[in-house]
Amino acid sequence: MTDRLFANAVDVNGQPLELLVIDGRFAEIGPKVRAAEGVEVVDLRGRLVLPGFVDGHIHLDKSFVGDRWHPHQFAASLRERLAVEKRELASALPAAERADALIRQAASFGTFAMRSHVDVDATVGLDNLHAVMETREKWRDFMDIELVAFPQAGVMSCPGTAEQLDAAIAEGAEVVGGIDPTSMDADAEGQLDAIFGIADKRSAKIDIHLHEPGQQGIEQLHRIAARTRALGMHGRVAVSHAYALGEVAPDAMDTVAAALAEAGVSIMTNAPGTHAFPPVLRLREAGVRVFTGNDNIQDAWWPYGNGDMLQRAMLVGYRSGFYTDEALRVALDMATDSAAAVLGISDYGLKAGNAADFVVVNAPNGAAAVATAPGERSIVRRGVLWKGLLPKE
Ligand SMILES: [Zn+2]
Repeated sequence: MTDRLFANAVDVNGQPLELLVIDGRFAEIGPKVRAAEGVEVVDLRGRLVLPGFVDGHIHLDKSFVGDRWHPHQFAASLRERLAVEKRELASALPAAERADALIRQAASFGTFAMRSHVDVDATVGLDNLHAVMETREKWRDFMDIELVAFPQAGVMSCPGTAEQLDAAIAEGAEVVGGIDPTSMDADAEGQLDAIFGIADKRSAKIDIHLHEPGQQGIEQLHRIAARTRALGMHGRVAVSHAYALGEVAPDAMDTVAAALAEAGVSIMTNAPGTHAFPPVLRLREAGVRVFTGNDNIQDAWWPYGNGDMLQRAMLVGYRSGFYTDEALRVALDMATDSAAAVLGISDYGLKAGNAADFVVVNAPNGAAAVATAPGERSIVRRGVLWKGLLPKE
């Protein structure tokens, strides 16, 4: 393996940065690094070096990336939306092929890890999970993929789903999913009993889609925090979307934020469309870990997205009203370090001893990268330019 010095770069703050890579790992990182004779020097010409992006919430089985364009269709209710999705997916390429295309696209933007929700219920069983697991295996040397068994159609309202979720974890999914326990199942305690029960039994993590509004959503978050504390699952439970945090009065938000921070429940937001969403800075100030992900990408739910986490960080900043460098760096953190922490990736970041994985971006610093989401990037894995590493198409 060729040893390399990546010279003349800048870090997230725009300060000089050089990275010495030996045997695929960072040997030394600093403003100026001396390399032994014979080490190949790569001049990064003042570009920004970032750790790889981490997509904290994606749906690899739903996206039409890699398939033909599927125009968005109107649906008057959630049940109708699910019917549209089933119909469109039935005429699309197999899930394994579409997942492969989306992973490839995300990788080309510099995403190195992702948490993918995969539909698991009594109707589809483990079919989607098996398809995505097959694709995950193909990408194992390049993309670190954590899988969530996601009960899209509810748990209690779709009998047999709890057993399928349990089987999914037994087969290798790492995270038990959930969805709107009250509005989907009309049985909050029933759904939470089921998913926390499986997670406890199988030492799995939890990630719950929560779109429930206002006070109803806040009560759900309090229930989730209480159960997380009771089972000692600090740092292993996430709630995705949690729109309610952006809908209630600040004092109600602060009270539940304190409960989430104490329990170690993380919040994922993708700064969705026109919807209210969690106040990122206020949650962070309260000690809550907030991370981001793309969520739906060109699927039956919405037509937007391309898998780029830098663009997603820009959307989070844009919708949050982030203007200062400090605030823009928060959006970047949500797409890198905070998401990596939620996924539990240990060998991550620009630190001596870690795998020499990074993204080179044509920007003068991290804030500028978020504000402009430049397309020109180079991807380096284990000290090697990425193109030679990707699995064959
Ligand atoms: Zn989702």
